Amino acid sequence: MDISRRRFFKPSLRNNTEPHLPWLKQPEQFTRDCTRCGKCVESCETNIIALGDGGFPTVHFEKDECTFCYQCADVCPENLFLDRSLPPWNIKASIADSCLANKNVECRSCSESCEPMAIQFKLQVGKVAEPRLSLEDCSGCGACVSVCPTSSIKVSNVNQNEKSYVSE
Ligand code: SF4
Ligand code: SF4
Ligand code: SF4
Repeated sequence: MDISRRRFFKPSLRNNTEPHLPWLKQPEQFTRDCTRCGKCVESCETNIIALGDGGFPTVHFEKDECTFCYQCADVCPENLFLDRSLPPWNIKASIADSCLANKNVECRSCSESCEPMAIQFKLQVGKVAEPRLSLEDCSGCGACVSVCPTSSIKVSNVNQNEKSYVSE
């Protein structure tokens, strides 16, 4: 592994708020020890992992969801992953103002795809129902991202989220 190349790519990864993989230990350890071998990419049952910024694997929810199958961790030859019994990550969904409800257009695609039922629609007087997101219930699986017709949902580090439509 070319150490100088690793150092070169590190800064951009530190600033990246998109998730890399579930169950990762420290980000610093990931960028130091991941060899970018691509085994996790091949193992992902929903094909959401691709080698991205600097050649490091990153999940892409615009393709599909994470099923938390743990295959990426199982096949990785390096010591990068936490035990499966621990929470996989601390990322959550957020819904932007471009949501169709803001245009008074009925759509519940995100709610229908959300297995933990973290998105509920609340009836409004004289308007279509609006989504309410429960951060507590959101697993960060990303299933709501690809089904949104206006690409209004992103899933990222909980501290980076927009606050729109968060449940009261
Ligand atoms: S399998 Fe492990 S070492 Fe290989 S690219 Fe994926 S995370 Fe990196
Ligand atoms: S846990 Fe499974 S579905 Fe999720 S990123 Fe890893 S291999 Fe893909
Ligand atoms: S990321 Fe998964 S759990 Fe969270 S709101 Fe979207 S579908 Fe539901």
